[in-house]
Amino acid sequence: MTVTQCARQSPGRAGRSPTDSRGPGGSDGVTTGVLKRYDNIIKSAEDKREYRGLQLTNGLKVLLVSDPTTDKSAAAMDVNVGYLSDPDELPGLAHFCEHMLFLGTEKYPEENEYNKFLSEHGGSSNASTSSDHTTYYFDVLPDHLGKALDIFAQFFISPLFTESATGRELSAVNSEHEKNAASDTWRLDQLNKSTADPDHPYHKFGTGNRDTLETIPKQKGIDVRKELLKFHKQWYSASIMTLVVVGKETLSELEALVAPLFTQVADRGTRAPSWPQHPYPEGRRRKRAYCLPVKDLRSLSIDFPIPDTRKHYKSGPGHYLSHLLGHEGPGSLLSALKAKGWCNSLVGGTRIGARGFGFFGVQVDLTEKGTEHIDEIVELVFQYIAMVRREGAQRWVWEEQRDLMAMEFRFKDTQEPRSLVTGHVHLLQEFPMEDVLSAYYLITEWRPELIDELLELLIPENVRIGIVAKCFAEKCTQVEPWYGTKYLQEDIEDAKINAWKAAKPPPELHLPPPNEFIPSRLDLETSSDVTSEAIAPAIIKDTPLMRLWFKRDNEFMLPKAFVTMDLVSPLAYADPVCCNLTSVWVLLLRDQLQQFAYAAELAGLRWSLGNAKYGLSVTIDGYDDKQHVLLEKIVDSIVHFKTDPQRFEIMKESHVRAIRNFEAEQPYQHAVYHQALCLSDLVWTRCQLLDAAKEITAEQLDDFAARMMRRVHVEALMFGNLTRQRALQIADTIESKLPKDATPLLAQQLMLYREVELEKGAWYVRETENSVHKSSCASLYYACGVRAARSNVTLELLAHALSEPCFHVLRTKEQLGYIVFSGVRRSNGVQGLRVIVQSDRHPAFLERRIDAFLQGAREYLENMTEEEFAKHRSALAAQRLERPKRMSSKASQLWSEITAQVYNFDRPRVEVEQLNTVTKEELIQFYMKHISADSSERQKLSVHVLSTAEGGAGRREQDEDETDTTGKQAEPIKITDLVEFKCRRRLYPHPIPFTNIPRKGAQCKL
Ligand SMILES: [Zn+2]
Repeated sequence: MTVTQCARQSPGRAGRSPTDSRGPGGSDGVTTGVLKRYDNIIKSAEDKREYRGLQLTNGLKVLLVSDPTTDKSAAAMDVNVGYLSDPDELPGLAHFCEHMLFLGTEKYPEENEYNKFLSEHGGSSNASTSSDHTTYYFDVLPDHLGKALDIFAQFFISPLFTESATGRELSAVNSEHEKNAASDTWRLDQLNKSTADPDHPYHKFGTGNRDTLETIPKQKGIDVRKELLKFHKQWYSASIMTLVVVGKETLSELEALVAPLFTQVADRGTRAPSWPQHPYPEGRRRKRAYCLPVKDLRSLSIDFPIPDTRKHYKSGPGHYLSHLLGHEGPGSLLSALKAKGWCNSLVGGTRIGARGFGFFGVQVDLTEKGTEHIDEIVELVFQYIAMVRREGAQRWVWEEQRDLMAMEFRFKDTQEPRSLVTGHVHLLQEFPMEDVLSAYYLITEWRPELIDELLELLIPENVRIGIVAKCFAEKCTQVEPWYGTKYLQEDIEDAKINAWKAAKPPPELHLPPPNEFIPSRLDLETSSDVTSEAIAPAIIKDTPLMRLWFKRDNEFMLPKAFVTMDLVSPLAYADPVCCNLTSVWVLLLRDQLQQFAYAAELAGLRWSLGNAKYGLSVTIDGYDDKQHVLLEKIVDSIVHFKTDPQRFEIMKESHVRAIRNFEAEQPYQHAVYHQALCLSDLVWTRCQLLDAAKEITAEQLDDFAARMMRRVHVEALMFGNLTRQRALQIADTIESKLPKDATPLLAQQLMLYREVELEKGAWYVRETENSVHKSSCASLYYACGVRAARSNVTLELLAHALSEPCFHVLRTKEQLGYIVFSGVRRSNGVQGLRVIVQSDRHPAFLERRIDAFLQGAREYLENMTEEEFAKHRSALAAQRLERPKRMSSKASQLWSEITAQVYNFDRPRVEVEQLNTVTKEELIQFYMKHISADSSERQKLSVHVLSTAEGGAGRREQDEDETDTTGKQAEPIKITDLVEFKCRRRLYPHPIPFTNIPRKGAQCKL
């Protein structure tokens, strides 16, 4: 896989003169506050949106995007500063500052004003802090962009940083760090930083915690709130900020909205910091580090310090080398590593550290055997680099990439407003205005000397090697200070360096062949088809073996299609052994197809092959021209599967490790898992799967795969730029590829799994422990019955109305923890309300706090004015009616109706019609019936995940009990024996199909 970090470089060049610079004070509606205007932004030929760049008088750079058809508006602000600019004595200050901006400004002093407004108007928001950027964004219904922008702008004009909020929000920052503390991604990232030059800011700890932002500053007499104000004053300057706004207004209207507001942001003349010195100077190269992971992970990274390559975005030298080293086709580095049985996956490419420096890296996973051949893997990397050097920069390789990227730019799916603003607000910091949309797509300058220059840096003398594996635990005698990660860093021996310098490429390493998946036909179908105007796809083939749904697209108008296919078999989940065999089979299939399908991926054909309880699923999405070639290859691989015994052992080990590693997942994920264990009629537990996995063999898999393909039902959807003849042809080819002796399944074998029904008035609790994370978790679920149009929207409305207050009360006010979630849970056709809190407090305490919040919700709902109620209802309605922006999202919507066997293809319209007649009274009744503790019909399931890690809540229940003042609560019934629990409960029926479509398997015998 190739990774080229799409981000940010300050090329240090002035924007070219704008084509339109009427300037302030001009006639036709020119806005004050605008210094320059850019109407020459390069966009894709198919892009219907309009763009304008602005430079305001205070230096703020703005990109305006006008889209009269948009059903969401959005904005993002980026400040060109991050945690590398934290004061040395206050690690995490930039991040803390980011949290604080949301909590009140002079004009809007209420702590939850922003989120409340967004929630009532169909919006959402978030923010992030990286090494050299801090980014804020929101989206909202188009009619409310103006007000949302006004609230948003105040963050950068006059934030309050109140004493009270500062004190409390620190807990959220600390809880965020605790969430990361046992996560290997965060630990490894910090280990890299901690082994950098200590005088370089890259060395810093960026998240911050209670120690760095409260305890230690207190000891030193530092006033953190004052420092926050100082930091904001120093860095939050219009001169280093960029803003992107998407709205339905015209460009001039957007300009008139944005300019007067954002010119109020102070220009303090601040310049964006840059770090041209590399954090790994001479003395910190030629290093090898071993690191002990929390999970049972095995990986090897081979990194080279390089300069920031973004200034060369027009010639893409980093992209060229990333393409070759990350290739997975014939002759590639990965193919050679796989042939040796050392690795299964590889990611290669450039990444930016922060403005001024970067890395070129190759990262591979390691098989058990791979851990014994580390130096040889590194040698193979140097052999591949030597081959690339020997071949010299190849113009045809570069041109192939150039053409593919230009094609991608031309036929890009419409971006969601929210991802458009967050992506481009960074690009705006780094690229000239006219290139802000095209910078990573259009490469125009062939400059082989830049490729050579970069290649010169990928030498053994510069290398830094990182090995992550439990088997090196004994070596790891050093401790990283922020996360406590055990590791050892050592120098690489001269002899090794010399051997790698002399690396000669073996014949199996060569440049990739020309890509045969590049589409040659990019025309749109012009013939007419009834399905193009219809809402529902049509069944155009229905045999006992296969059912095909088809719909011609008339909305996206791109030369693309989406093909998805389920191969259903009751065998897939029949018992834990079968479940394991299916999983390992899928791993092996992906492994087998990788080399062939990689070229297709490069040519814009995304594909996936997965397994679920019902069987296998295959999806292909992208240019329709050569889709069938890939699909047929995938089906061939499935039908004619033959296990390679060596690959089998490797994939089995990887599968077993993945099951085991779930142990170290976040507590809230454990809660979600246990909830499913209790509520789904049939689930094999991780323990059962682990036990059964030990005994599976390659012979078993061959037999299993053959048996499964002889008794299978295929259901497929083809949607997009396709004719029904072509769709039928593809489907017929697939059917003809099934084994000749294949027989259809029986109708009963196509039934869906079902959900356990809790009896009315019941309250159950499932308790479990986790020993890895310090955080505990409580998840409360209130079942609301089988899905139906009216209860769907009433429940959604309840969740919508409670979401913001839930976050405000449990996180901002009570500071229970960083992860506070509330929303609808749906499974097996049944739904309910769920609230999850992950915290350093005891789950029993969390249960009481969530309950208290939900009890208070009655008053909240009753006191809600009709106007507020109407706002929530129309916000939800608008959200539900939002059109999918991509062909693939639309296809997924259709497909989910098919797999759930409900077939309500017009669901948004049908349900919004219901929603519009739900009254406040009805909402309160719904709450009183399903959520209120006073209800005799309430059906509640709690899951408690208790941390038994050192410093966790495992031994603290007594302290927490003192805060319990209610005392009157009933006691829940503990679920200890899952089978006993389930066999005493009823199962819910499935929702009734919405339209009269022959049941899936209606062609099959009963
Ligand atoms: Zn944060």
